[in-house]
Amino acid sequence: MHPSTPSHPVERPPLRVVTGLVFLLGLILLAVRVFTHPIGGGGALNVLALIGLALGMLAAVGYALTGVTRCPACRTEMDEIVEGTTATCESCGVTLMGDAKRVWTVDERYVHDTPVFPVTLPERFAWPPACCVCGAQPTRMIQASLKKGHTGRNVALAVATGGMLIRTGGGSTVQVEVPHCDDCSGGADLHKPALEDLQIRFRSRGYALAFERLQEARAGAGPPA
Ligand SMILES: [Zn+2]
Ligand SMILES: [Zn+2]
Repeated sequence: MHPSTPSHPVERPPLRVVTGLVFLLGLILLAVRVFTHPIGGGGALNVLALIGLALGMLAAVGYALTGVTRCPACRTEMDEIVEGTTATCESCGVTLMGDAKRVWTVDERYVHDTPVFPVTLPERFAWPPACCVCGAQPTRMIQASLKKGHTGRNVALAVATGGMLIRTGGGSTVQVEVPHCDDCSGGADLHKPALEDLQIRFRSRGYALAFERLQEARAGAGPPA
């Protein structure tokens, strides 16, 4: 499924699993103790303690189940990457994908089966003059849309040369027309992560980079260092 770029295996160290489970067991014992001997006679403080212990249990399970690996480019240790998502190495900045067994670097020519490479969609934007999948001369625009409720309140209606973000049906949907060639389709979608700005995700790593650089150039920020 992944191209032959540098990769690194995901490991599940037994010590990490044991440590996580020991924490979990300790928290369960504490929760039982709080149940049988309520803090402050069983008031709000008691509820707070139980919520805190429950969150701790979730964190302990997450710690035990998360595999560890290294960035294939700079060898910095990191958590495994959920399949079908991308990550950026905090140390060297390379783009990475992964599954339960490995993480691998993604080069600019890589095109995924589904849109996975996210870029913040600014209020005003322009399209790089190419099909968003293969880079050929674009011949048609294909709509990507997202129902409101997933878009949050901060999506601004914007009309700019080349790029338009449109609200329809009294603001129930946001949509955008994305350049494609005759041979390609489904090259982009809209995505609204919790607490983050609206994103457009592309199948092509190269197009996502070109889109990001074009907006930065238009904003006068220049290309990234
Ligand atoms: Zn790295
Ligand atoms: Zn194409």
